[in-house]
Amino acid sequence: MSYLDEIFGLAGKVAIVTGGGRGIGQTVAIGLAKAGAEVVVIARSNADETISKITGEGGKCCFVRADVTKEAEVDAALAEIMQKSGRIDVVFNNAGICKHQSTFEACVADWREVIDTNLTGEYIMARAAAKIMVENGIHGSIINMASMSGTIANIPQWQCSYNASKAGVIHMTRSLALEWAKYGIRVNSLSPGYIATPMSVDTPQELKDAWMPLIPMHRMGTPEELVPAVLYLASSASGYTTGSDIIVDGAYTCF
Ligand code: NDP
Repeated sequence: MSYLDEIFGLAGKVAIVTGGGRGIGQTVAIGLAKAGAEVVVIARSNADETISKITGEGGKCCFVRADVTKEAEVDAALAEIMQKSGRIDVVFNNAGICKHQSTFEACVADWREVIDTNLTGEYIMARAAAKIMVENGIHGSIINMASMSGTIANIPQWQCSYNASKAGVIHMTRSLALEWAKYGIRVNSLSPGYIATPMSVDTPQELKDAWMPLIPMHRMGTPEELVPAVLYLASSASGYTTGSDIIVDGAYTCF
């Protein structure tokens, strides 16, 4: 086994990727499978494309349907995974939504939907998975998708609910890391800057033009550029890293 496989390899591990049917989740699912993990995608619609990309390269991937905002669906999904795969080692808590609205345009239902999906959904999944890890003596790794928006408030688009949800994810991550350190469960977050995916690629060109001068690297990142950070957090390479937030943003948050 090579040195890199020994440190970053995920052979024998089961990794859940929420929202892994497209976008960042799909690319990370492929990366986790290439590192040797058996990947389970959880989303509301399907993961056909992700499954065919992974299995086409000889990797292992399956889909379990659940809405991360619904505790009973998450519990049922994790029970199914335990029955089929026997363990849960890694959770990439990635499912999320964003609404560009001024606070006066938005209604409280908009706020609730974003907080429910991005913050409460990650809480429900992390809590349910960690319980299973503890019951089975698994020293797992939970990686919560945050955003640079948890550190800065974006301009020129208004997205108060999203920014608040991601700030919540970062602090929830620190809190859970402290609480679960005694079980050997590590909890970290990932905070990307603007990444080219369906969520951001379809945004109007004038908005992207407004972002560019604010990004010191003058470009959006790619989902592939997030994979190494997730592999680090998922593997034994990060054995002493917990409660951290890894920012991958082309230096956006530096000024
Ligand atoms: P996409 O919109 O491409 O993908 C989001 C995924 O989340 C979809 O697969 C969707 O699947 C799933 N999802 C949404 N709501 C739920 C739910 N209630 N239950 C289960 N699954 C759900 O987004 P991105 O790939 O761009 O973003 C992924 C994550 O990265 C998000 O948390 C986002 O906030 C974060 N992020 C993105 C950035 C970017 O620039 N793109 C920057 C920083 C952070 P389905 O509809 O089938 O349920």
